[in-house]
Amino acid sequence: MKDLLPAESPTWRYLEAKIAELFLSYGYQEMRFPLLEQTDLFKRGIGEATDIVEKEMYTFDDRNGDSLTLRPEGTASCVRACEQHQMLYDRGTLTQKLWYSGPMFRHEKPQKGRLRQFHQFGVEAYGFEGPDIDAELLIMTARLWKQLGLESAVSLQLNSLGNAGSRAAHRAALVDYFESHKDELDEDSIRRLQTNPLRILDSKVEATQRLADEAPMLTDFLDDESKAHFDGVLAILDNIGIPYEINPKLVRGLDYYSKTVFEWVTDRLGSQGTVCGGGRYDGLIEELGGKPGSAIGFGMGVERLVLLLQALDGVPQEIFQTLDVYIVAVGDSRAAAMNLAEALRDQAPSMRIQVHCGGGNFRSQMKKADRSGAEIALILGENEIQNGVVGVKYLREEREQLTIEQNKISTLFI
Ligand code: ATP
Ligand code: MG
Repeated sequence: MKDLLPAESPTWRYLEAKIAELFLSYGYQEMRFPLLEQTDLFKRGIGEATDIVEKEMYTFDDRNGDSLTLRPEGTASCVRACEQHQMLYDRGTLTQKLWYSGPMFRHEKPQKGRLRQFHQFGVEAYGFEGPDIDAELLIMTARLWKQLGLESAVSLQLNSLGNAGSRAAHRAALVDYFESHKDELDEDSIRRLQTNPLRILDSKVEATQRLADEAPMLTDFLDDESKAHFDGVLAILDNIGIPYEINPKLVRGLDYYSKTVFEWVTDRLGSQGTVCGGGRYDGLIEELGGKPGSAIGFGMGVERLVLLLQALDGVPQEIFQTLDVYIVAVGDSRAAAMNLAEALRDQAPSMRIQVHCGGGNFRSQMKKADRSGAEIALILGENEIQNGVVGVKYLREEREQLTIEQNKISTLFI
């Protein structure tokens, strides 16, 4: 779990502002939900046989003896909140387009791009059955990559997991196949043969991966409706010109997916290459106690996007300029300096102004002004106060120091 320090926080703020602005511009509305939920929500929502529930959750009993868990992802909480506030069925069938952001917690092996407290932006859309919403989510993320200058570094992988029927037929074939190669499987995968054989395809063990390459493909078991749905998604992407690769082995880490699943991946971050992943999970709302309803969403990892932006030199330098003006207050001018700063803030609310606090002589204050990164130092002493003026020193340019009337200072910045 990491602290975010001032050297990096401008990058985060820049990225977070871009993402939030984009989601809002597509008509998605923000949700905020608690960091803690009942453990049972995640067990049911994510699935007992997943890595997250089996070994990654931060779970504890509170003072009442209730089992609570720090949220490892946002999807289950979002469905829970929408159910609780009757956002899904109030008058007939409602639709919702939502986004959220914040920290998620998973007890994983920490590595570059893999943390125990990490941060996600997530999007969820409820009540949309057709393939248009699947495509819109991908179109929206493609625009984000473009706006961030990342489009050449990420690519889209797609697959369809079909409906429950196709997955059951595939599962039977998969179990047969892996049973006949049981002696070549790793321990985790042998256990998954009973609980969740699909996840064996997702294994990171090399020998298992080789077996998985030859395993029966879900694509060959797709029902007609899922096939038509997937073709619908692809047609919209083709039409708008978003390239993709169909990856029949893409199954995603969570239990709740159905039909379309996708990942945006990059080869610039080593093995932590997925920056955004998601898909359709039409069964989840019902699983969590609601009426059946369509749902689709994705999560993107902020840490990985920050790393990618930095790797591509995609962080605009101007975001690190955090101050415009530093007010140097020498002699008995503390109160006057505060007044001057407030008057300037009234006139130019977006200007970033720091008033020197803590006294000290002219030289030491000027040193601080220089180190602050501000463009301009405004110098105020007893003489200046008496004459209603202020000294102006340009800290980053070779320019004459000048004196200007206090009520004309704002003209310096226009
Ligand atoms: P991975 O296969 O990398 O473990 P995942 O399938 O577990 O990813 P999701 O649950 O789909 O990930 O979360 C969505 C996104 O959140 C991921 O694509 C990734 O960018 C980010 N993410 C997931 N886990 C972590 C983590 N421990 N640290 C940093 N980012 C993460
Ligand atoms: Mg994971």
